[in-house]
Amino acid sequence: STTPVKVAVTGAAGQIGYSLLFRIASGALFGADTPVELRLLEITPALKALEGVVMELDDCAFPTLAGVQIGDDPNTIFDGVNHALLVGARPRGPGMERGDLLEANGGIFAPQGKALNSVAADDIRVTVTGNPANTNALIAMSNAPDIPKERFSALTRLDHNRAISQLAAKTGASVTDIKKMTIWGNHSATQYPDLFHTLVGGRVAAEVVNDQQWLESTYIPTVAKRGAAIIDARGSSSAASAASATIDHVHDWAAGTPADDWVSMSVCSDGSYGVPEGLISSFPVTVANGTWSIVQGLEIDDFSRGRIDATVKELGEERDAVKGLGLI
Ligand code: NDP
Repeated sequence: STTPVKVAVTGAAGQIGYSLLFRIASGALFGADTPVELRLLEITPALKALEGVVMELDDCAFPTLAGVQIGDDPNTIFDGVNHALLVGARPRGPGMERGDLLEANGGIFAPQGKALNSVAADDIRVTVTGNPANTNALIAMSNAPDIPKERFSALTRLDHNRAISQLAAKTGASVTDIKKMTIWGNHSATQYPDLFHTLVGGRVAAEVVNDQQWLESTYIPTVAKRGAAIIDARGSSSAASAASATIDHVHDWAAGTPADDWVSMSVCSDGSYGVPEGLISSFPVTVANGTWSIVQGLEIDDFSRGRIDATVKELGEERDAVKGLGLI
């Protein structure tokens, strides 16, 4: 029998956790032949609710679920884990300034980075979903000096999937006809979904659409503000699609990307496309053998350059703020 893959999920009793755990347990990350062991982290007051979720996991009798452990100590929960999905984060409260938000999250992601550094498996891969995801990933990475930087990532796959879906609706293509979508920069309102390299049925999306006005005034804001539109419509946040995107991200990091396509992942910049080295920024990446590579050699026109510079500037400001707080 195969050794189970140990997958840690933080904030496991939350909304995203409730959509995410059942899919992981059913084999969505590594396939039906690979057993998984779940390691679920919560803050102490949420452990009782988490016990209820574990009762439901038991009741599903998933053949791929080899075990579940819960707790509130990252040093115990992260012990020997191969993947860590960092979902739990401090949401922005009323009247909270950005500095307060970053500081509160530093109090979560710095200790979690340290714990991963000391107890995770040698092949640990970290995916941050909890917001502000890019900067939370930067904090975790900076507090885990022994883990190679390329093992840290933040989620921009939901933005990527939203961008594909909106483009499919506009062009009448099916989502499977759309390849090489890219989200650049920060998982925030400044993110840049790039249609100048995306293909629709093999043709450049921006040319298929041929409407710069729509691209700037409708498409980009619709993708960037989709989360708010969902809160408006359903009265709570887009937890199921965030969970689904987290599955896609970790699945593709493990399984690789097809030869004719790429995905968007926020990863540690090596300076590509003028993004300062060390920032966790979204790029087009291909994945092979569990290792991502930033797609090289794309031509960036003036419009895209301006958009990328703006979102990367925001990432730099967030980095400077957490540096100022002594978190990195
Ligand atoms: P959710 O499960 O809905 O969201 C968790 C995080 O994911 C938030 O930071 C949220 O950001 C982020 N997120 C990213 N993309 C999306 C998206 N598309 N839609 C919605 N959220 C998105 O939050 P809950 O409050 O239900 O659950 C959080 C849980 O985390 C709680 O149970 C809490 O106890 C736990 N927690 C655990 C910690 C730990 O394990 N040490 C530390 C902190 C919290 P945004 O705020 O921008 O919506």
